[in-house]
Amino acid sequence: MRNPMFVYDEKLTDLIFDYCRWRLALDPVPLDYGGAVHESLAASLEGLMSPGGTDPVDVMELFDKTLATAAVSVDSPKFLAFIPAAPTKAALLFDMVVACSSLQGTSWIEAAGPVAAENQALRVLADLAGLPGGAGGCFVAGGSAGNLSGLMVGRDTAGVRMGDAAPDHPVVAISEEAHSSVGKALHVLGVDSLLVPCHDHRLTGRALRDALANDPRGDDVIAVVATAGTTNAGIIDDLAGVADVAEERRLWYHVDGAYGCAALFAPSVRGRFDGIERVDSFVVDPHKWLFAPFDCAALLYREPWLAKAVHSQDASYLEVLHRDTPEEWNPSDYAYHLTRRSRGMPLWFSLAVNGTDAYRDAVETVLATTQAVADLIETLPHLELVRRPELSVVLFRRTGWGKDEYDDWSDRLLEDQTGFVMHTTWDGDAVGRLALLHPDTSIELVAEILASTA
Ligand SMILES: *Cc1c(COP(=O)(O)O)cnc(C)c1O
Repeated sequence: MRNPMFVYDEKLTDLIFDYCRWRLALDPVPLDYGGAVHESLAASLEGLMSPGGTDPVDVMELFDKTLATAAVSVDSPKFLAFIPAAPTKAALLFDMVVACSSLQGTSWIEAAGPVAAENQALRVLADLAGLPGGAGGCFVAGGSAGNLSGLMVGRDTAGVRMGDAAPDHPVVAISEEAHSSVGKALHVLGVDSLLVPCHDHRLTGRALRDALANDPRGDDVIAVVATAGTTNAGIIDDLAGVADVAEERRLWYHVDGAYGCAALFAPSVRGRFDGIERVDSFVVDPHKWLFAPFDCAALLYREPWLAKAVHSQDASYLEVLHRDTPEEWNPSDYAYHLTRRSRGMPLWFSLAVNGTDAYRDAVETVLATTQAVADLIETLPHLELVRRPELSVVLFRRTGWGKDEYDDWSDRLLEDQTGFVMHTTWDGDAVGRLALLHPDTSIELVAEILASTA
């Protein structure tokens, strides 16, 4: 007798597809509550893992009523904390295809079709950045994985670039605004960081050059990380100035554009990214502002053969993966992972069916709404704009408020389901922060949120 877990089950399929159809059609998506739920989740889950299994209808009921509502909907236009998400319908649907087809994308020999498609999506991003035709990489789980994998190549190829000048104890130059995942990657890699002091929270070529000249470890620096769109404030570093220094000193140049590089699609701000065409590696998270479902980050290298020399895994059972046919491309060779799902496919499908103009328009819409939000803040007497937004993060001060008042405000907004916001720290003070990303986040909605600070 066949094991029933592997037999097609019409009722179970309907149960799940009906749920997905309902969730996809929700307009608007309810914001829900995340960690703010009060009943005990452990009590609700009690006894569910049993030898005989539980009726799927009951399990879905529990998921729908108790678990799903205990997650703030990151795809709600009211989600303005951290970095939101806004996957397209096409991308979400194709994620189900990836799941139902068990699509993996580890190697060419197993999955040439999906890998070719993922590479086509990567090429769109490489072209936006202006990288040469030989550029390539792979999709990884997130910006953190991308930063780690890119910097690992920077570390391990220092000898090739720098020859005798390569230091015994390599150091990577980063700015104070670098994302925490960069520091973590350096920790994993066993590499120290040289913190470049920045004027106005922006890493410039001049600041980097000065830091390298003045710090006793300057000559040990083998790589530099610039951020194209800081998570806290959406600031784009001086990518061209940093590129000049990287070239002079033969540093590996990695750009962390996990959040901001989506705006390469937007002609109105494209000029701010000038210099990105000179990177050795960069990361952008389609699961943030490129409207793909989790978890999807694109990692691209100017010279992918360098990455391959570093990341290719040696194991006798893996030798067959490498046949070196001209088309062959093994995503496992371009990051520290091996087995991976074809997580770039939902983006590929959505780009193919919607067209790149729709992406340009969606990003431009968010940029325009952000400017309107900044304008509105400037008209409100009790609010002060911290700085003009460069991308889609707005920072503001509410006169008289400290951390506790911002926290109370967040709690109130979530409780009445008006919005999900979190304050941040700016020059040592608590300030309000709104991160826009969903094209459906309207100025009216943000105006309502801001009105509640009165
Ligand atoms: C979000 C973010 C990361 C981390 O990416 P994950 O996808 O969460 O791993 C890194 N750098 C920047 C600038 C980010 O905004």
